[in-house]
Amino acid sequence: MKAGIHPDYHEVTVSCACGHSFKTRSTFKGEQLRVELCSNCHPYFTGKMKFIDTAGRVERFQRKYAQAAEATAQAAAAKAAAKAAAKAAAAKR
Ligand SMILES: [Zn+2]
Repeated sequence: MKAGIHPDYHEVTVSCACGHSFKTRSTFKGEQLRVELCSNCHPYFTGKMKFIDTAGRVERFQRKYAQAAEATAQAAAAKAAAKAAAKAAAAKR
């Protein structure tokens, strides 16, 4: 191996936000690698649904679509009322 051209490949400890940690080898600078997800807690491996909420994005999405659903419901109610009125008018004739 030629000296001075290869990155430093050393042992690092990976610690996840879930508390799980393991050792691996890497050219990463430093001894500690902090991650937010690992194979111990990622939904793909656990099979459980989990929201990774960054700065209230899930909440914002739900708020946005709650308004849209409300508008749809109101439109449907108005349409039904108009239909009933037309039916009543037709029955009068
Ligand atoms: Zn984890």
